[in-house]
Amino acid sequence: MEGTLAEMFIDGRSVGATLSERYEVRDPASAEVVDTVPVAGPGEIDAAVESGRTAFGAWSATPAAARGEIVTSAAQAVRGCLDELASMLTREQGKPLREARIEISRFVGTLEHYAGLAKHLRGGSVPALDEGAFGLILRRPIGVVAAIVPWNFPTTLLANKLGPALIAGNCVVAKPAETTPLTTLRIAELMAEAGLPPGAFNVVTGPGRTVGEALVRDPRVGKVAFTGSTETGKRIMTLASELVKRTTLELGGSDPMIVCDDADIDSAVSAASVGRFFNCGQACLAVKRVFLFESIADEFVDRLVGKVAKLRVGPGTAEGVTLGPLHTAGGRAEIEEQVEDAVSAGTKVLIGGKRPEGDALAAGNFYEPTILLEPLRDARVAVEEVFGPVLPVWTVGDLDEALERANSSIYGLGSSVWTRDLDRATEAAERLEAGYTWINSQQKIYDELPFGGFKQSGFGKEHGIEALDHYLETKSVVVRRTS
Ligand code: NDP
Repeated sequence: MEGTLAEMFIDGRSVGATLSERYEVRDPASAEVVDTVPVAGPGEIDAAVESGRTAFGAWSATPAAARGEIVTSAAQAVRGCLDELASMLTREQGKPLREARIEISRFVGTLEHYAGLAKHLRGGSVPALDEGAFGLILRRPIGVVAAIVPWNFPTTLLANKLGPALIAGNCVVAKPAETTPLTTLRIAELMAEAGLPPGAFNVVTGPGRTVGEALVRDPRVGKVAFTGSTETGKRIMTLASELVKRTTLELGGSDPMIVCDDADIDSAVSAASVGRFFNCGQACLAVKRVFLFESIADEFVDRLVGKVAKLRVGPGTAEGVTLGPLHTAGGRAEIEEQVEDAVSAGTKVLIGGKRPEGDALAAGNFYEPTILLEPLRDARVAVEEVFGPVLPVWTVGDLDEALERANSSIYGLGSSVWTRDLDRATEAAERLEAGYTWINSQQKIYDELPFGGFKQSGFGKEHGIEALDHYLETKSVVVRRTS
């Protein structure tokens, strides 16, 4: 598909748009045009939703085990094109090829995880409700699900919605981010070729504010599964409320990491570096604020700066690169403003804090990995989501102070604590206001565990068997014997 005119994917085939408008997808490392994509008009949005609605009858009636087998075949077809997809993802998103390969593998893994759960879909029954009557608890798919996906992990964040939605018997209309539609379109093609029926998975392209909103407003769409900024999540929640539409919102985060004086410093330093700089820091779940006990603070910071100095910034296609460009020029400008806000108030930059030098990187949205020491408590990097390679660190007196500072955020997505003391670890796990807490572990997501935010990080769960609950309606039936 690369270099051609990409089309949308509706009702099992690639289709153009009735609007003549197309837009360019550009490589964040070089600003070169990778492809052009149509803007969906009302006709294509209607066709995609209608296709989902039509396909829903047969797909939801397909035995769950058979749905699982079809999704497994579709996932394998995607795995078979891993190299092609990873390179497409790097071109449109900017991430290093190694990370793109991990992402496509995770996409496949998540689909397989849900395919494996297909045979375990269950309802329930309640005996002897009344004399001669018992109850059944049925679980039914919702219908058409809109999956609105951002650009930072275009495929894994899609899989988190597509996997449970399809296995539960729903059909999906996906709206990838305007800047990262290509890998998603190719995946839809591959999954259809592997046997996913027409209409079960459609993809429409174009801006969120028009195409995305049209899906959210469409009365035939029963549920909206969204990942993205808290601001856009609030807008979707408002629109969805008009039709009391089901929503799952995975929104922003500002994950705290607490490192106590008895921590394994080497492992914690590694986790901070990977947790902050993976995907060039553009992750909802990422180490975004570090709180260090005073006695280990200098050693931790020295080792972290040493590690970060070894990260190699460059185009994602280049061998040995660990940090690609930021995805957009606007995203880099935002990071620069957040850093400037801290620096102008006296914060010390321990490393980075600027664009890398050299003509080779001048056309891309590159920014050096950056560590900031003790920004003010109300600095932008302390209170906002920082969506790039910038990590503020602070010292704290004890666990109480660390927990108070960690929880003083509007967000509550991930969190981590590093200590060998079981009491401290369990206290932190109980008191941290976040949907996930890692103890002495990198912030790694598991398909087996439910993931979702507290506070303004959203609601609803992805991953885990729990995600299926968000793609099923529960219905009670009373059965009364007639004799
Ligand atoms: P958005 O939340 O605006 O975009 C995420 C997805 O929603 C995209 O597919 C987007 O489409 C779509 N969308 C945008 N507006 C609407 C709407 N009104 N109705 C329906 N869908 C919509 O994030 P941005 O890409 O604008 O990024 C801005 C900032 O948000 C980032 O810098 C970062 O701070 C944060 N962010 C956080 C993420 C997280 O996982 N925590 C993920 C992405 C962003 P389109 O791209 O076409 O506009």
